[in-house]
Amino acid sequence: MFDKILIANRGEIALRVIRACREMGIQSVAVHSTADADAMHVRMADESVCIGPPPGTDSYLSIPAIISACEVTGAQAIHPGYGFLSENANFVQIVEDHDITFIGPSAEHIRIMGDKITAKDTAKKLGIPVVPGSEGGVPDVAAAKKIGADFGYPVIIKATAGGGGRGMKVAQSEAEMERAFQTARSEAKAAFGNDEVYIEKYLQKPRHIEIQVFGDGKGGGVHLGERDCSLQRRHQKVFEEAPGPAISAEERARIGAICADAIAEMGYRGAGTIEFLYEDGEFYFIEMNTRLQVEHPVTEAIFGVDLVREQIRVAEGLPMSFTQDELEINGHAIEVRINAEKLPNFAPCPGTITQYHAPGGLGVRMDSALYDGYRIPPYYDSLIGKLIVHGRDRAEALSRLNRALGELIVDGVDTTVPLFHALLQEPDIHSGTYNIHWLERWLETNLQA
Ligand code: ADP
Repeated sequence: MFDKILIANRGEIALRVIRACREMGIQSVAVHSTADADAMHVRMADESVCIGPPPGTDSYLSIPAIISACEVTGAQAIHPGYGFLSENANFVQIVEDHDITFIGPSAEHIRIMGDKITAKDTAKKLGIPVVPGSEGGVPDVAAAKKIGADFGYPVIIKATAGGGGRGMKVAQSEAEMERAFQTARSEAKAAFGNDEVYIEKYLQKPRHIEIQVFGDGKGGGVHLGERDCSLQRRHQKVFEEAPGPAISAEERARIGAICADAIAEMGYRGAGTIEFLYEDGEFYFIEMNTRLQVEHPVTEAIFGVDLVREQIRVAEGLPMSFTQDELEINGHAIEVRINAEKLPNFAPCPGTITQYHAPGGLGVRMDSALYDGYRIPPYYDSLIGKLIVHGRDRAEALSRLNRALGELIVDGVDTTVPLFHALLQEPDIHSGTYNIHWLERWLETNLQA
């Protein structure tokens, strides 16, 4: 059993990991930038180490600083959270070279899934259905036009090194191809330092359905059903739920088994998410995330498992604490992402929290690092909290969400809370009839800038 784990992250996810450590009797080490000296994760951990100045590149992304913090404190393992270094294969390699355990998959699996073309190829070989599109990278506009003609428009051009919804462009017709192709390439180059792109058929009205998987690293693999994350703005999720309102038990069992078998065959270790677009009863793989997701709590709620605890267990070489047969869905859960952003443009809105009150009561979980007087630094992501509700069914989860949002107080900065109050007035949200374009369209008509 590990005695001490270092958490290479900040904010709510650092607290999330500290909580799991404490329940398991493991000491926690927080790392922080100078901008986060007063942050909640620093206060809550057993120990803390300052690892550099405010910019992420000089602190939370500084591999030497994090390795040194491990050596100074004697931490035996690193939990990366999400974002920052969580999907950096080079980091994992360096961690292991220092005889420190990385709580997550192998460097090789991260590398394979981090390159979207290799990921798609691997998925295909493992029997996972993929979106029709180019075989590998597309070198030039002429090749792109040929693919457009073969598959039919619209198509989407995507960066092979992509992430966070960046470097994606849609071409509705051949006339739009040249411009879309060049823009996608230059955006990819600027954002990821790699201008390789590939092309997929652009699905018109899909849902974003992702399967939570878990592997023990020794050939054992399970799935924990799906999450529907179709409510997105600029390809970024804002509202997630489990189970998916459009997915039947048979579909879940079928796609879940395909994913669990793939994980087992890979010998994958730890938590992962296999993301699909879902349209007319078909699943199409888009990517795999080799880490814990922001929205993991909805899965935890309906299955009653602690995914961070499981990550720590399998990193130690212990078996998972459940088998596929023991996993049973109980009720319905919804998460909303509370960002410090000003509507209608969603402009980041850092500042000082003058008053904070978290909602409570049955079936309510608030994962947040906020406190009264906390100063949100301007250097990092604008996510300041996740409100997760769990009910016996979807209708109860929605009314609980409404009730909990009413109790939540975050004063001093603008937040995305008013968006959720407004969405709860929408019949489509109550009926669960929405696809990945629904929110963008709704924002255009209801929240004109
Ligand atoms: P990222 O890694 O940047 O998040 P993804 O490949 O996961 O990129 O895609 C993010 C989102 O972009 C998806 O959830 C979906 O909304 C949209 N998208 C991606 N591929 C397609 C496609 N082939 N057709 C339609 N929408 C797509």
